[in-house]
This record gives sequence, structure tokens and C-alpha cells, in this order.
Amino acid sequence: MAGMRLLVGVKRVIDYAVKIRVKPDRTGVVTDGVKHSMNPFCEIAVEEAVRLKEKKHANEVVVVSCGPQQCQETIRTALAMGADRGIHVEVTGKDYETLGPLQVSKIMAALAKKEEADLILLGKQAIDGDWNQTGQMTAALLDWPQGTFASEVKIEDKKLTVTREVDGGLETISLKLPAVVTSDLRLNEPRYATLPNIMKAKKKKIDKISPKELGVDVSSKLQTLSVEDPPQRTAGVKVENAEQLVNKLKEIGRI
Ligand code: AMP
Repeated sequence: MAGMRLLVGVKRVIDYAVKIRVKPDRTGVVTDGVKHSMNPFCEIAVEEAVRLKEKKHANEVVVVSCGPQQCQETIRTALAMGADRGIHVEVTGKDYETLGPLQVSKIMAALAKKEEADLILLGKQAIDGDWNQTGQMTAALLDWPQGTFASEVKIEDKKLTVTREVDGGLETISLKLPAVVTSDLRLNEPRYATLPNIMKAKKKKIDKISPKELGVDVSSKLQTLSVEDPPQRTAGVKVENAEQLVNKLKEIGRI
């Protein structure tokens, strides 16, 4: 369907290669001075949106990131991959600390209406909070159909066919537009931004807006009680041969 507008959510998260450290007061994880990047599943969502535009199914790809000023870097990365313009929904301080799937979903739903979007593409999950809820909640708030964990997306006259990665196989569903789709790992391989495209992206527009201007209340009913490191693995014992192994296992009552 030509003329479609795609809305893509891109979250700025701690880079997947960083070793996460818990803050000494156990209120969260250390983020200061830590490398951040676009959530990998969001990169896949952006790639899919850009491909849909290249195949002439859409004529505009709008990327949205909710959070502090640095989110504009994440938006720029998406613009360099081929998105057309960005919306930075500024959320800072205490509101940013408690920003979760429900708050982001309310923002995405409000923007979908404001921008008259035909399709919302999100990652299936953000690798920091591991919620896996924003796509589902956004679809529920808008009362739009959802195709989650997509490994293939096809568009044919106002209808969307989504292949989903489910336990034990693949499920193919047909959805009416407008709809929400969340990307799984095998949907595509995101492109790297080329230098000319990075330069071009600098000229693309990023609008800044507050949740309040969208009529969204970002207060949260969730309270983090404690953040802990995963339990340390206890050291193993080396044995010289099979006989010693059998004896050790007998000693600890495993055989
Ligand atoms: P989650 O439900 O938190 O696991 O996140 C799933 C997806 O929702 C992400 O891959 C993003 O596409 C979108 N999303 C979550 N948080 C944000 C955010 N702060 N800004 C933009 N998109 C977000």
C-alpha cells in the first residue's frame, strides 16, 4: 500500500557487549560512563521498515525514542540506516528511571494517532529490562491487531502477513492494517550505516516533544525493591580420571 507511514520505536540501551554492574546501593545498574547503543531488536525493526519503504510499500519511516537527550544519537543512527525523520519524546530524571512498557506504549499509541501511522514496528524485547511487553500493550491500547516475534513480514493490499516464531515452529497470520509488529532475531540482518548516509542523516529532522504535550501521564505504579547480581557459580573440582569422578559423584550422593 503506497503512502503508508511507519512508526518505529528505537530504545537506547546499554551496549550488548558491556559487562553490567549493579550499583552499590542496589537501586539499579551503573549507566554513567557506560557505552550505550540502539537495542538490537530495534535495529531489526528499523531495517524492516526501511526495506518496506524500498519496496514501495511505505513512503515514510518515522523513528521514535523516549528518554533523555542522548536518545537523539539513537535516532540519528536510525536516520543513517534510512529512516526519514525522528521524534524524540523527552523523558528525564525520576520519570526516566521508572519509564517502562506501559508508559512507552501510551506514548506510542498517542503518536500513532497524531501521526496517522499505518504500521508500528517495535523490537520484540529490549535487552536491558527484558520486558517484552511494549508491542503487546501498544496494540491493546490502540485496539489494533498484533503480529509479535515476526520472522517474516509481507504486505499486500492493506493486508499484512506475518510469520511468527512460536514454541515448536512457525505460525503465519494475516492482519488488517493498521497493526503492530514486533521483530524477532531472524527477521533480517540490519545494514551498517555508510559514511555518506551518516552525513545525510545529520540534515534529517528530529522533533522534540514531551509526554505532557501528547497528553500522556508517565507516572508509574511499579517500584523497584532491589537489584541483585546473579548468584556466583561456585568453583568446580578437577579429577584425574573416570574412577576419581565416579568416587566423587558417590561422595556427594549423585550416583
Ligand atoms: P520492551 O517491551 O521494554 O522489552 O521493549 C520492546 C520494544 O519496545 C523495543 O524494542 C522498542 O522498539 C520499544 N521501546 C521500549 N522502550 C522504548 C523507548 N524508551 N523508546 C522507544 N522505543 C521503546
